[in-house]
Amino acid sequence: MMVRENLQKILQELPPKVQLIAVSKTKPLEDIIEAYEAGQKVFGENKVQEMVDKHESLPKDIQWHMIGHLQTNKVKYIAPFVSLIHSVDSEKLLMEIEKQGKKIKRKISCLLQIHIAQEEHKFGFSINELSALLESDTFKSFEYIQINGVMGMASYVENEIQIRQEFRSLKNDFDQLKSRYFLKDANFKEISMGMSGDYSIAIEEGSTMIRIGGSIFGSR
Ligand SMILES: *Cc1c(COP(=O)(O)O)cnc(C)c1O
Repeated sequence: MMVRENLQKILQELPPKVQLIAVSKTKPLEDIIEAYEAGQKVFGENKVQEMVDKHESLPKDIQWHMIGHLQTNKVKYIAPFVSLIHSVDSEKLLMEIEKQGKKIKRKISCLLQIHIAQEEHKFGFSINELSALLESDTFKSFEYIQINGVMGMASYVENEIQIRQEFRSLKNDFDQLKSRYFLKDANFKEISMGMSGDYSIAIEEGSTMIRIGGSIFGSR
């Protein structure tokens, strides 16, 4: 097992304002414990059941981030403990998060997922959809949702120029949203972008959160 060494290698190159989310999906508890003992306290999962099981089995000071597409009927299972939902991609999902947060009187932190890839199948809002949402009365009525920033995934391609352009467009979207809707909101500061294959580019383009699985835990 090389988890500790892999972590240290990534952390060494990381600018202080960039946070590492260790993506532990499909990986066993032992791997997470090894990372935890090496000092990593923030983990990302993409399936609700797996995240709930791991949360129950592991130390309670771990912060769990939901990074995968989230179905509305499953929000209730993670609402009590999830630290950040990166993958908010619809108004319907936001309404459900608000509903579940209200039930347990817990404000839930979210990122707005923006579709930046040329690939069709990826989830996320367009910038126009987001503008309409953020100006809506529904959005303004939310009391149990805190928007911490944006998230995006670049196309899964070799072409670094394309990847860089996609990250740059996410940074642009973030800046636009910040100046139009969140100027006085200090919570709106995160740009979650960058995975094992492209995080160096993402950091150069302004990422504040990288989501790394394979380069820490080995390929899945
Ligand atoms: C799996 C996953 C990651 C991590 O991918 P790696 O290539 O293993 O680093 C990051 N973000 C999301 C949304 C994922 O589903």
